[in-house]
Amino acid sequence: MREANKDGNAASPARADCATDSAPRVPARRASRAANRGNGVTSKLEPGIVYLVGAGPGDPELLTLKAARLLQQADVCVYDHLVSNDVLRLVRRDAELIYAGKEKSNHALPQEDINALMVSLARRGKRVLRLKGGDPFIFGRGGEEMQFLAEHGIPFEVVPGVTSASGASTYGGIPLTHRDYAQACVFVTGHLKNGTCNLDWEMLARRGQTVVIYMGVGQIEEICEQLKAHGLPGDWPAAAIERATTPKQRVVSGTLTTLPGRIAHAALKPPSLIVVGEVVKLRGELGWFDTDAESLITHPEPAHA
Ligand code: SAH
Repeated sequence: MREANKDGNAASPARADCATDSAPRVPARRASRAANRGNGVTSKLEPGIVYLVGAGPGDPELLTLKAARLLQQADVCVYDHLVSNDVLRLVRRDAELIYAGKEKSNHALPQEDINALMVSLARRGKRVLRLKGGDPFIFGRGGEEMQFLAEHGIPFEVVPGVTSASGASTYGGIPLTHRDYAQACVFVTGHLKNGTCNLDWEMLARRGQTVVIYMGVGQIEEICEQLKAHGLPGDWPAAAIERATTPKQRVVSGTLTTLPGRIAHAALKPPSLIVVGEVVKLRGELGWFDTDAESLITHPEPAHA
């Protein structure tokens, strides 16, 4: 008999008695360990638990095997706007789907409501899939949400996902590191809590590294200006990748001087990622995914000396 059937498979997931509101609260770490005991991996689903799962950047084939299994086994899926439709199609057919939103200015559910929802679903004995785009611990508020669950004694587990920096760079033909160009790679967010873009520009304007900016298209002019003001040349390569790894992926490349205009011209929208560094030059040689000429707006050879 196959291992998967022992603990319940996608067609008939194992179910245990539901916890109630009056049930004693189990500290998250202890509860998770109990679920894992014996085999070192989680093969048995417990009721009343939240799985924080990274859905990757869009292409459903970039899901981890663990994510794909949990998509098939959870009772409820609470998902963010970055989760692609192709991934959502893989959620178990009879699972409840709840949209939690969180586009910048169009929060379908405020963060406090999302937190409260997960606690209440888990306390009703549900196996909750909290599905987030990319990796849940990279600019995804996954840490904050799990802190809330821990404070409320809800068991949880976290499954990493392919972060959009990896997805966008690989599908955009831009290696994040390369021995000739970048020995380091920095991930930053262009959107800070108070709405400003107050980054450590001196550190970001160093040569020999790649800078990946999440949530940065809206601030692209300021970002490029600051990087130049802190020492990078105007012809330093930079690119923006929209909807990476999906059939709608578009890449715009240029230099710190030309990129803002090109992004505006192409009307690039979120979700888009900005990559700054000499590795962008390799795109002309390594771009492999953009086969549709219409989806590709590229300037692979910035005039960098
Ligand atoms: N946790 C996510 C990031 C959430 S922040 C991750 O690991 O990828 C949201 C930002 O991620 C977007 O504004 C955009 O900058 C980036 N992003 C997410 N998905 C993307 C995609 N498919 N293509 C390009 N950028 C993406």
